[in-house]
Amino acid sequence: MSKQPKILSTILECVAVLILGGIIISLLNRTIDTEPKVKNVIFMIGDGMGVSHITATMIHNSYEPLNMERATSAGLQKTYSANSRVTDSAAAGSALSTGYKTNNGMIGMTPDGVAHPSIREKAERAGMATGIIATYPVTNATPASFVGHVPHRNMEDSIATYYLSNTVDVIIGGGSRRFDQREDGRNFLDSLRAREYIVTNDLADIKDVTEGRVAVFPTDDSMPTVLHGRSTEFLPTATAKALEILTNNADGDGFFLMVEGSQIDGWAHKHELEGVITETQDFDNAVGVAFDYADKHPGTLVVVTADHETGGLTIVNGNRKFDLNDHMVDYAWTTGGHNGGMVPFFAYGTGAEHFKGVLENTDIPRIMCRLLGLDEN
Ligand SMILES: [Zn+2]
Repeated sequence: MSKQPKILSTILECVAVLILGGIIISLLNRTIDTEPKVKNVIFMIGDGMGVSHITATMIHNSYEPLNMERATSAGLQKTYSANSRVTDSAAAGSALSTGYKTNNGMIGMTPDGVAHPSIREKAERAGMATGIIATYPVTNATPASFVGHVPHRNMEDSIATYYLSNTVDVIIGGGSRRFDQREDGRNFLDSLRAREYIVTNDLADIKDVTEGRVAVFPTDDSMPTVLHGRSTEFLPTATAKALEILTNNADGDGFFLMVEGSQIDGWAHKHELEGVITETQDFDNAVGVAFDYADKHPGTLVVVTADHETGGLTIVNGNRKFDLNDHMVDYAWTTGGHNGGMVPFFAYGTGAEHFKGVLENTDIPRIMCRLLGLDEN
């Protein structure tokens, strides 16, 4: 007789536990749902920009904080490629764009020749707006990694074809000769115009353009460096204009923009510190534009990093007059090529907290994809 109430109370206890469990799960879900969603990603890559390049720029600025220092999260990433401790820009660019390591020289594919979509391509396929900005030719290794898939970085005429088979809303950079002085005689600038691109060689021509497709090629090859006359307005202005156009094109569906400070690397190969500093400063001004955008547009993540370090630059205590700002500072280069050390990354904006610690270079696009709701592989 006394068994029945006991069963009843056990059932009631079970029901209570289930209800309580349900409440806890729904509360947890609500917490997950309220984490701000990343809609836009701005990926900024300083080619060859190692810790010492940034430090030299800080010294030149008398330690006035750089824009990069506004980052709320930072860490280090391992740059080695699939076949070398010391990567080149092709393998590093591919790792940062596809999430797969590859051999030096290869673009957008693994060593077995299998092409993997870049985060930009995945974003485009998901209906997001996308853009690429560089001061080297847009067919050069780093930007190429976000648009094409070729076994060797030197195949720049082939890389240019990917700008027709993809739709990169905003293309700004050097290298028009791969579009209109091609070995196959085709004129890709006309092809872009036929695809409703505004094609021009002057950024000022798109001053009043606020949406649609634009391709701006100020030069037929690499743009001049800042020391050789490129306006320090160029990269920040190009970044701001791209953000305006992509915001309107995305119409709430989000965008992906890659901005490369291309020419830090070139000066570091030549062991020209003033060139390195002026290009790093210029890149940092563009970082400031991106961070300001993230301040005003919640849902925007900005990640700043390098593909590798160039020159093996080190800063030492010296008596030689440092002709920039600090007389007790000297510098030394240890290689004419790249070095295999880790490089820093900085993150700012929505989701920045996911970028911290020591990462593989391939982790960076994978985390970005996860936050954007895109396939990581
Ligand atoms: Zn290099």
